Amino acid sequence: MIVFDLCCAAGDHRFEAWFASSDGFADQQARGLIACPICGDNEVVKAVMAPRVGAKSNQQAIVAAKPADAAVANEPSPELVRKVIAEIAAKQAEMLPQSRWVGRDFANAARAMHEGRAKEDLIHGQASPAEAEALRDDGIAAMPLLVPIAPPDAVN
Ligand SMILES: [Zn+2]
Repeated sequence: MIVFDLCCAAGDHRFEAWFASSDGFADQQARGLIACPICGDNEVVKAVMAPRVGAKSNQQAIVAAKPADAAVANEPSPELVRKVIAEIAAKQAEMLPQSRWVGRDFANAARAMHEGRAKEDLIHGQASPAEAEALRDDGIAAMPLLVPIAPPDAVN
């Protein structure tokens, strides 16, 4: 095995990748099989070797910890899935108090903001799949809440 410092053409992101041999790298590179783990660009070249002195930046440290074919993930353990969901739920809980609950009026309210008829605001509410699709078709940014919440008016 041989390790190369690589960088992508699009973003100059640096990462390390392992190959069976130098020829293995050249072959995968020529076939566009090596993708930048940060932006996915598959135009990847060998990075100019920088002297490894001092502390690496956080970003480099994180990326370097990933093995070569970083696009592939193994199946996460149920424990890991639970942990990630708990983290997402916590983030969502942080965000929601700053957001205004608009209930069933979500699609109308989002459209009004998009068209400049209402002040930009962070809102959340309910939309049917058809309404959500119509918003997406019209280029109106909306995303599903990752963790289901009970509508405030349904909470006792
Ligand atoms: Zn990149």
